[in-house]
Order: sequence, then structure tokens, then C-alpha cells
Amino acid sequence: MPTAKDRILQLRTLLQRANRAYYTDAAPTMSDREFDELLAQLAALESDHPELADPNSPTVRVGGQPIKGFTTLDHALPMLSIDNTYNEQEIRDWISKTEKALGASDADALFNKPVSFLCEPKIDGVALSIRYEKGNFIRALTRGDGQRGDDVSHAIRTIRSLPLKLDPAAVPEVLEVRGEVYIPLAEFERINKEREEQGDDLFMNPRNACAGTIKQLDPSVAAARNLGFIAHGVGQLSDTSFAPSFSLLCEKLQALGIPTTEHRSAATTADQIVDAIHRIDQLRHDLDYATDGVVIRVDSFAQQEQLGATSKSPRWIIAYKFPAERKPTRLIAVDHQVGKTGKITPRATFEPILLAGTEVTHATLHNYGMIRQRDLHIGDLVEVEKAGEIIPQLVAVITDQRPKNAEQILPPPTCPACGSPLEIDPPESAEDPTLETTRRCINPECPAQIREKLVWFAGRKQMDIDGLGESTIDAVRASEIPLNHFADIYTLHTHKEALLELDRMGEKKIENLLAGIEQSKSRGLGRLLGSMGIRHVGTSTAKALAKVFPDFDALVNAELWRLMPMAVNRTSQKKRELLIGTKDKLKTEYETGLGQDTANVFFAYLHSDAARETFDALSKLGVDLTSKDYRERHEIADSPFASKTIVLTGTLEHHARADLAELLESLGAKVTNSISKNTDILIAGGKAGSKLSKAESLGVEIWDEVKLTKALAESGR
Ligand SMILES: [Zn+2]
Repeated sequence: MPTAKDRILQLRTLLQRANRAYYTDAAPTMSDREFDELLAQLAALESDHPELADPNSPTVRVGGQPIKGFTTLDHALPMLSIDNTYNEQEIRDWISKTEKALGASDADALFNKPVSFLCEPKIDGVALSIRYEKGNFIRALTRGDGQRGDDVSHAIRTIRSLPLKLDPAAVPEVLEVRGEVYIPLAEFERINKEREEQGDDLFMNPRNACAGTIKQLDPSVAAARNLGFIAHGVGQLSDTSFAPSFSLLCEKLQALGIPTTEHRSAATTADQIVDAIHRIDQLRHDLDYATDGVVIRVDSFAQQEQLGATSKSPRWIIAYKFPAERKPTRLIAVDHQVGKTGKITPRATFEPILLAGTEVTHATLHNYGMIRQRDLHIGDLVEVEKAGEIIPQLVAVITDQRPKNAEQILPPPTCPACGSPLEIDPPESAEDPTLETTRRCINPECPAQIREKLVWFAGRKQMDIDGLGESTIDAVRASEIPLNHFADIYTLHTHKEALLELDRMGEKKIENLLAGIEQSKSRGLGRLLGSMGIRHVGTSTAKALAKVFPDFDALVNAELWRLMPMAVNRTSQKKRELLIGTKDKLKTEYETGLGQDTANVFFAYLHSDAARETFDALSKLGVDLTSKDYRERHEIADSPFASKTIVLTGTLEHHARADLAELLESLGAKVTNSISKNTDILIAGGKAGSKLSKAESLGVEIWDEVKLTKALAESGR
């Protein structure tokens, strides 16, 4: 039996580590509920043993430590966390306690009018404090440890729904808005799909994706990810008469263009509050962001002040948290899947359970550190959770019900498909066996990797080879016909006889397959690069590369710095300016989408023997290694729209707005939304409004639809 002291120290270490993983590394090691339960345990022990108090205990402090590479600044007012519970009765208790506290100090309050509470959905995002001075956005800080947070202004400034300037006459000199930045659910799915394509680790949930996004030094990442923000409080306020209550504050913020939730409701009794909780539980499944509970607060700021705060959280606010849907099941097996980039991912198979309306039998275990941390065995009773419609997670192991002789799960010592040695990064350490590590099969000939690569290569969004699906690839690979490299696909026509002998491969099917293969030869460099499963080179990066380089030779002969984004370092930028000259070209040159590290990896691949052999073979077999995009860019250089910045407004009779924008872009134009002095042409349809008058005042060239149609016709469209 460990002593109380041991247990307290153990819990503190565990929670600190979990906090760090959650806040700083954006890779949680335990579920929220597990964390909250351990925290409650620690709080109970600490109150029994005041002699063991520690000002740095996770029960006193709020979040994780700020990461390196960011400026860390003090919060003007600390960002406390909100007390929370999973229990409705505790909400009722809190309400009567709060009413009593307010009534006790002001007898009339309870007697004359009831306390007004507000209920709103608790967004599962990343908390921020945004400071405006004289109406200007000054900075956005993360919560950090509650006292100090990281300056993430560069990322937050990219949020389109958040105003950077407020009417200075309508706001106090200092206004700190607190709220939650989040990634919309659809956006989360899109990002994970893209990461999967690029062979990157998936984000576990939208909150991690959001934290991962705003912790990027490069703000273009955040800009590309369509973040949202919803305000839910205030920090420093130089004029407290700005709003006497939270509901009035929200009205004012909303009017200033700062988003607040539309699902806020007022309540004066415990029953009304519990009803609101149930109502929000229903509607939250239709929201476009993840929610994990309901926040209940006292509306009046004067009453909030009267109630005050403990060292950890304010007394005037509490969160009811929805339990994630979670069910027990039996772990049947763990297999080790080899992906197309060689990364090995353990995947759990358990007895089927119904979670959030769907049958679930698998969950990814992410990495082997997680297996060791949970001491997972085959046959274990485990709990699987599906929080907010997201990917199922194995969240707990019930070790005291472990069957005798249950088999421990060990990471494969070598590649489960080919037996080759694995690259383990970072190396496993005896000191911390729960360290998360990535295992990768380094054998380029690994059959499992080759199969995954071929399936990917032939896929619809890649080379789109009609007739070459998974089953055909497996059938061919099981026969004598060689199919180990992408180039082998383009020699299949020389094995027609052997193909005919395969099961369920009639004459017609083979013709279709060979025609599909022939067609795919002309997809061009962009599609080809994006189809090869090269690490860090997904669809969008490949496309960007193809825009910059006319063909494979140009790409392979390019210097490393040409693959890097301009923002990486000033030297490469200067060098680029000297070498390329004009600024316009400069813009094109850097948009390859590769970061510094990934550019290095890709560069090394391009210059490897393996890459040379692959591209040589593909080229000899007639696969097009030139870049379509690049060709088109040259062809459009003469169009009247080339390098023009164009804005569309009003109703156009013969063109759908989105189609027209795409068409103009294909002719070399840049289509933007708002008029500025950089706008070259405004295309104005009927009922054009403020954009037209602004264009007139700025002296921007204005075209009507007739002129547009004529110019398009001249460009052959
Ligand atoms: Zn292998």
C-alpha cells in the first residue's frame, strides 16, 4: 500500500505529464474524464494532508507550460479554469449554494428577484484571451498556465470571423475578449484526410487539430484551416460600465462583430437549468464544432464579483460535462498494419459494440507507447469511447478482470510483412517506456508497403487507373506476373496471356484494364508526384510543385532552396530575389507548400538511386513527366486576364459566380472578394452595390458582362 505522500507525488507527476501532453504537445495521453477523476482524487488527498501542499500542484495551477519558440506574456487577469462535474445533482447543489451565497450578503436579492443564470454549449476548442486597445486587435494569448500564455496572434489574426478592428467609440480603451478558437468538424475531417494522404499522423480530435494549428510558427497553416472563434467571457475591461451583465456583454460583442453563441438561454431555477442541459445535449449533434458540455454562470457581473473565486476557479460559473458514449468490450486481437510509407500502426480488434449509432470493431492504438502505458493484453476487458461523432478510441483497460495467461502485446521486433529491421524514432528508452515512438519499415521492397503504394497509386484521386483496384492488384501480385514497382503497371500489356489465366479476368476486363493504364500515362507530373506515396508530398504539394517546375528534369536539377517556402529564411529569400529577379515570379516560385524539414526529406528522395530508377523507367514506358499546369500557365500568359486581380459583384446572367472565378483563374487571373487599390478589374453584373461605388472611387477598371463575354471569347473560352 503506497503512503499518501507517494500517491500524491505520483498523481502530480501523472497529471503534469498528461497536462503537458494535452496543452503543449496536443497529443493527449488520457481521456478528459480519466484526467478529471485523477484530479479529484489528488484534490481530496491534498485536503486531507495540508502539510503536503505544493503551490505547483496540478490542482492549483490550470494548464500546461508554454512551448518554446513563442513569446510568453502575462495575462492582465489570470485565466482561471472552470470547475466541472458529470453529475446533475451537483449542478443543483451548486445552484442552491450560489443562490444562498448571494442571498446571504443581500437579503433582498433572494427575496425580491431570483438570480439569473445563463446556459450555453461548452465548446471543445482552445481557450484564448484576445486584447483590443482603442478598438485595435493587440494580441491573442493562449491560457498557458493561467498566469502566462503564449502569444499566438499570428495564427489568430487569420480567423476570418474575428474582427481585427472595432469601432473605437463603441468600446472601452482596453477590452479583453475571452473565448474558444476551434476547428469546424468538416474542416477537421478534411485535414485528417489530407494528412493521411501525406503519410502524416492523424489528429486525434478537433481540439488537438486546433491546438496543433495555432502552435505552428507559420501562420499560413492556420490561414488554410478555416478556424472559428466564439467569445464566452471577458478579461481586463478598462470601463466596467461597458456591460453590467454577461448577456448584455454578448449582445454588445455580437454587435461589434465578435461571434458569440446563438444557443444561450436564461434560467432562474434548477429545473430550467437541467432542461437547458438536456436541450443542448440534443442540439449539439447538429453544431459544426465539437462540444463537451454546458456552461452555467451567474449573469450579473456585480453578483459574479460578490461570489469571487477560489485559487483555481471562479465560484460563479460551473460546467456540466456530457459523458462521452463509452462501452466495455473484449479485446480480441492487435494487428500491426504497414502503411504505404512503411509506418507501422497497431490496430485493436474487439468484440463488436454499438456506439453513437454505428457498429464499432476497430480502434487505432496510435503507437506502442500508448500500449505500454495502458499495459494492454489480448483478452482484456477494455472501454471504447466515441466522443462527439469522432473516431473511436480505446480509453481504458480494466486490468483487475484480466483473464489468466492473457498475452501481453509487444511491438513487432521487425516488419510484420517483410521481416526487415525497423527505424524507431525517437529511440525507445528504458527510463520512460511509455514514450511515444514511430516505427517504420525501412525496406523499400517491403511487399506490404508496395501493395499499399500500388493501391494508392491507381486510386481515383491519384492516377485514376480504371480496372486496377485492390482485388486486381492482389490477384496479379499472387501470380507470376511482376507487379512490384509503379513501372510494372506499364508493362502489364506484355503479360496479356498470363493475365487471362487469372481468376475472373475475362478478355473484356483485361482490355478495360489496359486501356485504363494507357490513359493514365498522360496525367502529368503533378498527378504523378501526388500518387507515389512520397513522404510529405500529398496531392496539394505535388500540384504546387508542378506549377513551379515544367518537368521532372527541372525539378530534379533545382537547388534545395527552391523547394522551400520563402518565409523559411531571409538568405534563401534574398538569393531567390537575386536569381529570379521580378517579384511576380517570386510569388510563384515559393508556393511549393513544403516546409524546411520536409523539403530536405523530399530533396534527398529526389536524388536517391531509387527515385532516379523509378522516374527513368516510367519515362521510358511513356509516362508523361512534364507539368500540365506549367504548360497551361505559359499558354495563358497572353490572355487579357493574366496576372490581373479581379473582383466579381452583382448578378451575372450567363455565368455562375464560382464557375466564372475558376474559369478566370485558369486564364491566369487572381479572383478576390474585396475591392482595394490592388484590384485591376471589377466585373459588375446587375444590382451591383457597394463594391461598384468603391471601385469607382478608387478608379478601378469596371467591366460589364458584355465586355466579359467578349474577352472570354477572344481567349477561346
Ligand atoms: Zn516491411
